[in-house]
Amino acid sequence: MSIEVNTLSKIYGKQVAVNNINFQIKTGEIVGFLGPNGAGKSTTMKMITGFIPPSSGGGTVCGLDFVEQSIEVRKIVGYLPENNPLYPEMYIKEYLQFMAGLSQTNDSKVAVKNAIEITRLGPEQHKKIGQLSKGYRQRVGLAQALLHNPKVLILDEPTSGLDPIQVAEMRNVITDLGKEKTVMLSTHIMQEVEAMCERVIMINKGNIVADDNLKELISKHQTSLEEIFKQLTQNVDTI
Ligand code: ATP
Repeated sequence: MSIEVNTLSKIYGKQVAVNNINFQIKTGEIVGFLGPNGAGKSTTMKMITGFIPPSSGGGTVCGLDFVEQSIEVRKIVGYLPENNPLYPEMYIKEYLQFMAGLSQTNDSKVAVKNAIEITRLGPEQHKKIGQLSKGYRQRVGLAQALLHNPKVLILDEPTSGLDPIQVAEMRNVITDLGKEKTVMLSTHIMQEVEAMCERVIMINKGNIVADDNLKELISKHQTSLEEIFKQLTQNVDTI
């Protein structure tokens, strides 16, 4: 099992962001993590990647406890956070080299070259990050997440704000990566899930409302993924 989440909760003051959730993601799966705005997707991902501690519960990534062994977990997880924080004054290669140094990546020059190649950043690599289009900035974020050749990728809205061509390119990159890595990605675009993911986990108001193989979910509900999403996330708290 790549990711296991057990009775995981996060409470901010009185706001229950994530409410006692459980799920498992097998090695090699590409799983779409869906939910409306404020459902708890980013909060869940931040806890799995060890960036914030849970209020209760926990889990593992490749057998490592993401609360107790968060440094170890970061070594095997590549994380693209929602707002993809970058340094606009840095050149792409300079930034990736810097990040590879911070994460003590072995043979960082090769790692940077590979990450640029995989994310197809080559044509833009002479530019500063601040001069890049949104789509290319997303690719820099993804390249950063790939530097240490992680086994697991956690991507928080990797295609948000991209034009249709960039969405298609990013989708191809992620599909290729999914051939050898476990991928959990959040998105609001249903076509993206249909194109890339074998499984879907849906969260609403901090509760898991669906966790199924995509084809089985569609055949159970006998309607489109978009319609299922609407049914499960409007006026419904849990299944
Ligand atoms: P979106 O699709 O809009 O990115 P999301 O599903 O990723 O939403 P989260 O960002 O996880 O949702 O937020 C879940 C809930 O937790 C929301 O009600 C949000 O306002 C709240 N929340 C998130 N971070 C904090 C924080 N640092 N302090 C207080 N509340 C927070």
